[in-house]
Amino acid sequence: MPYAYDDQNIFARILRGEIPNDTVLETEHSLAFNDIEPQAPVHVLVIPRGPYVCYDHFAQEASDAEILDFTRAIGEVCRMKGVAEGGFRMIANAGEAGVQEVPHLHVHILAGRPLGRMLQ
Ligand code: 5GP
Repeated sequence: MPYAYDDQNIFARILRGEIPNDTVLETEHSLAFNDIEPQAPVHVLVIPRGPYVCYDHFAQEASDAEILDFTRAIGEVCRMKGVAEGGFRMIANAGEAGVQEVPHLHVHILAGRPLGRMLQ
C-alpha cells in the first residue's frame, strides 16, 4: 500500500528546525528528542530524518543505511539514558488502530518507573 507523507506534521517541522525540540541524539539519518508530555521519567522519541509515515513505510522504502542508523540510534539513546541494562519499553504506534497521533515514524523509549504489564 502506498503511503502519503504529510510534510506539515509536527515532527517534519521539528526536523526542519521550525519548532524547537529538546534533542537527545542527532545522527546522520535519525533524531532523538524528549517527548513534550513525558509519560515516564525517561520518555524519548526517536525518528528517522526521512519522510516515513510509519514502520511499514520505513521498512519498505528506507535504505539499509537509514535502517541501520535508526536501529543503532535507539540503542544508543537507551545507553545514554542509562536504561539499556535495567530495562525499558519501546513502542511504535501505527495508523488508526494503533492510535498514532503524529504521522511520522517514531519509536517511544520509556523507562524510569514501573511500566506494568502491557500485553495480557
Ligand atoms: P503517538 O501517539 O503518535 O505515538 O505519539 C506522539 C507523541 O508525540 C506523544 O507522546 C506526544 O506527547 C508527542 N509530541 C506531540 N507534539 C510534540 C512536540 O511538538 N514536541 C515533542 N517533543 N513531542 C511531541
